[in-house]
Order: sequence, then C-alpha cells, then structure tokens
Amino acid sequence: MNQGQEFFLVDDREVVISQDLYVCCDGGTGALGHPREYMTLTRHGGNRCGYCSRLFLHAGHADEAMVREKGIPLPNVVAAA
Ligand SMILES: [Zn+2]
Repeated sequence: MNQGQEFFLVDDREVVISQDLYVCCDGGTGALGHPREYMTLTRHGGNRCGYCSRLFLHAGHADEAMVREKGIPLPNVVAAA
C-alpha cells in the first residue's frame, strides 16, 4: 500500500503524486491521522482527501511538473499497511 507515491509540500499543502490509481489516505503520522479514506483517481486526474484535504494527483496530471518544480519534497509518509 502506498507504494509509488511521492509527497510534496506546495503552498503549505501536501500534494501526493501517485503512480497508482488507487490511493489510501490516513492523514499521515501522529495526532493528525484520521480514518482511512480510499480514493480512486481518474487517469491523469486528481482527488482530494475529504478528511485532511491532502491532494492526490495521478502521475501525468497537468500539474505534476509544477508540483515537482515548486513543491518541497517530503520524506515519504508511508502508512502502515
Ligand atoms: Zn487524508
């Protein structure tokens, strides 16, 4: 779970670029966690977590280049599978 995901901080918001169309968000680590939210991305599309507003973009999304250029890479916050 959560393999092939890269985390970036863009304008103080977390953006995840995912190689997979199926993503799961649990809010990350520590006290900021929330119940798992499963989302399906459309091809080259995006979706936002309803709990923590983290934005997931499928690789190839129109904003991917901007995120990679402007975003601050974060260490992968891998949820325990
Ligand atoms: Zn979330």
